[in-house]
Amino acid sequence: MSAIIKKNKIDELSDQELERYNKHILLDEIDYHGQKSLKNKHVVLVGLGGLGSPIAYYLASSGIGKITIIDNDKVDLSNLQRQILFDVSDIGCSKVVAAKRRLLLLNPELNILPVDKKICKDSQSSIFNDCNLIIDATDNFKTRCLINKFSLANKVPLVMGAAIKFQGQIAIFRNDQDNEPCYNCLYEDVLEDDACINSGVLASLTGVIGSIQTSEVFKLLLDIGDQLNSKLLLVDIKNNEFKVIKITKDLKCKVCNNDK
Ligand SMILES: [Zn+2]
Repeated sequence: MSAIIKKNKIDELSDQELERYNKHILLDEIDYHGQKSLKNKHVVLVGLGGLGSPIAYYLASSGIGKITIIDNDKVDLSNLQRQILFDVSDIGCSKVVAAKRRLLLLNPELNILPVDKKICKDSQSSIFNDCNLIIDATDNFKTRCLINKFSLANKVPLVMGAAIKFQGQIAIFRNDQDNEPCYNCLYEDVLEDDACINSGVLASLTGVIGSIQTSEVFKLLLDIGDQLNSKLLLVDIKNNEFKVIKITKDLKCKVCNNDK
């Protein structure tokens, strides 16, 4: 947990916050102290699409104090089938700007940092360097590999999700710890393609996968229950199949074995 709790300054909860987060505080696993610690967390969310939409909403509604949102796209009509952060009035607007506006309407107390840029190898590592974890809600292999490298370089956990057609995946890569597999250990042999971009996806599947991803974020930040650390949850919503498999470290992985 030491890598997760980095900040020394802990703000107490106001009376309004006690009311807003009452249903969290009633949970033994969260309680006042857990909710207060969420207020003092910084989460970086990369991707404001079908997965990023519910993730951003639940991070904001749950009082994660500082949320960095990264995306360089503009809102398009074809996004509205599943990207529930946006509506027709946002079409043509920057996604991060529209998202910040929407999230602050939901929870004005938060610190939302919009980054209207595409993640590339020259992206400033400073975007990530005081965060508690990174959420990958992107839709292409190349960007996922870069996010994995930033996660390793900053030694913070990576919570990854993907959704295509009727199927999805969620995994946590403990890039903050030695001897744990990284994203590249699992997917090094996968050929780069744009399958996610060019295939269909059931709208509600993105809600399911994004919500499970966010639940794993809360579990990780609060050290609750059985987390998907170095495990991959495979979801087939068409056939109601849920399967968890262990991810093993690739001792020849060029990414995590060089960086650590
Ligand atoms: Zn690796």
